[in-house]
Amino acid sequence: MKDSDVTGRPVLSIVIPLYNEADNVETLVRRLEGVMGRLGCHWEFVFALDPSPDGTREKILELLRAGHPVRLITFSRRIGKPLSLLAGLEHCRGDACVIIDADLQDPPELIEEMYRKWQDGYEVVIPQRVSRKGENYLYLKAAETFYWLLDKIAEVRVPRNTGDFRLLDARVVREVCRFRERHGFLRGITAAAGFRTTVIPYHRDARLTGKTQIPLSGAINIALDGLVPFSRVPVRTIFVLGAALMALAAGTSLAWIALGLITGFSSSWPFMALAILMLLLSGIVLSGMGILGEYLVRAYEDSRDRPLYIVDAIEEADTLPRRIVNAELASPAVGREPSIHGQAADSAKGTPGR
Ligand code: UDP
Ligand code: MG
Repeated sequence: MKDSDVTGRPVLSIVIPLYNEADNVETLVRRLEGVMGRLGCHWEFVFALDPSPDGTREKILELLRAGHPVRLITFSRRIGKPLSLLAGLEHCRGDACVIIDADLQDPPELIEEMYRKWQDGYEVVIPQRVSRKGENYLYLKAAETFYWLLDKIAEVRVPRNTGDFRLLDARVVREVCRFRERHGFLRGITAAAGFRTTVIPYHRDARLTGKTQIPLSGAINIALDGLVPFSRVPVRTIFVLGAALMALAAGTSLAWIALGLITGFSSSWPFMALAILMLLLSGIVLSGMGILGEYLVRAYEDSRDRPLYIVDAIEEADTLPRRIVNAELASPAVGREPSIHGQAADSAKGTPGR
């Protein structure tokens, strides 16, 4: 059994990234509290809010005033889901933390099984999607290809078909917060952190209301942030292709000289072959530069050392479990001073989101 607080029950932090989720927040909290009631633990909701024009903030404040154990972190601008999640982790104080989307695609009821696995001693519990509702065929195929590629080339083991929905023990949260990586690809960071990990299957639902808040460009960024920082294969591939092309060029030249010596140098086919080879080479050089650019951009972002995110305000309910109100945040190294029931400027190092 895991550590408990003074009343003998563990505290579970639920980290929820949000952008324009006003219509989903109440149902989400109701379903989550049903689960927490059955588990018999204490809990806190850590809402990581990208400023939303649809009134999500007001809905959360209503819940806070109604006495739900809410900590609301509002960012100074929209930073995107990956960094919101990291900020949420840095602001949670429970014995374990569950990360869940606000749109109810991840069923809160699965937390019961995740919690039991945690009580059995697993420090990372990752739900794995065996089916997904409400996504189009092309998106699903692209996602499948991404997970396959990640599985093949990543230097860390990211279970296939898993999202950010997961339970992390407080120790893992603390370690994850020490990874000051600007991309915020939590699946890779959790895998790099290690610890005792288990996977449980589940069926992913469709969004309760609204449509996806992550545009195609955002999904591509997340995919690249999974592949580039966690694999050297793309860069190595350029080297191998370059070497193969040099060999091909040398072979073609030798063949051309040999043919010329035998039949004379009048034929024009070698020039055609060379032209095609040049075209191929330019394509490879350009895409190779693109791949190198992906690594360089990330190195450049790291070197700028900008804050990962800037907090506009932190608001907390006085119904938060007492033990955790004065507890250390997950990442004390970041050095921030959150205010209770008030406004606070707060930042952590990293890049702006997408
Ligand atoms: N989200 C966010 N910031 C954004 C976009 C999305 O915090 O800029 C939140 C969103 O409110 C939801 C979660 O991230 O809770 C997943 O987003 P969404 O459901 O739109 O993505 P999908 O499930 O389609 O990948
Ligand atoms: Mg969703």
